[in-house]
Parts: sequence; structure tokens; C-alpha cells
Amino acid sequence: MATYVRIEQSEFDEWMQAHDFFCLNEDQVRQELVYVKTWHDETYMIKVFSSIVPGSGTGRAVGKDAIRVVLFVLVAGEYHPFWKAKRVHRVQGWKSNLIHRISDAEIMGLYGQTQYNCPVCESPLVGRDGRRGPFIGCTNWSVTRCGYTRDMRKR
Ligand SMILES: [Zn+2]
Repeated sequence: MATYVRIEQSEFDEWMQAHDFFCLNEDQVRQELVYVKTWHDETYMIKVFSSIVPGSGTGRAVGKDAIRVVLFVLVAGEYHPFWKAKRVHRVQGWKSNLIHRISDAEIMGLYGQTQYNCPVCESPLVGRDGRRGPFIGCTNWSVTRCGYTRDMRKR
């Protein structure tokens, strides 16, 4: 079992800023610092839920203390969560684990971005995990049930 480490708020903040994220202050009501990065005309957004309690630098209770990385996509004017990376535990090596999770989320967005928009409804496309491996799907699925998909392995 890896050893739990204390992550200072200032250390985390500096690291996130160095990776082009900014702190989303309005989310502090959720009792943890949340960081955001958007790209491709703000179509894609990654949120990092730090698990760091604002002002103290201490972690939340064990069990709620992992750092989470979520990819959101803008559909019909609203951000929808589309993909969650594996959790990053607050242990030695968290920085390299976190950069891998962030890049996983970026790849999920980039796959969609490189495939242009959905040929059926013109919404953004995004990478998703499926039972038979990763695929590209229409982000409008949760809104209009547009079912356009394309296998990522046949590119
Ligand atoms: Zn579509």
C-alpha cells in the first residue's frame, strides 16, 4: 500500500497553473478546489477536482480524498460530463499519475476534435470507452439520442 502524502494548496495551485489550468473559484462551495482548462473554442473542458479543502491544504476524508479528472463537452450551450479518468490517489508520484490522467482526458477530446463534427447532427464528437474498446461518439447522445459512433481502431 502506497503512503498517503500531504499536498499543500500552494504546491497544487502552482503545478496546475504550470499545466494551463485555472482555479474555478465558484466551485469552492463544494469544499474542494476545482481547476479548469478549455480548448478548441471552449468545446472541450477538463475539470480537475483536487480534493484539497480551500484555505487549508488538507485532504478531504479518506474515501473522498482522490483527485478526479473529468472531460466535459459543450452541447447545445451546456457542458456535459463525457468521460472520467481513473482516480489519482494522494500518494507519492501523484504528479506523474495526474499528468497521465489529464492527457487521457485530452486524448478523448482530441479524438472527437480531429473527426470534425457529427455527420448526422453536427454536434461535437468525443472519444468514449466502450465494452469493445474506445470509440468516437456523438456528444448529442444524452440530449437527442443521436447514436452516431465510429470505431476508434479503424482510423
Ligand atoms: Zn450526432
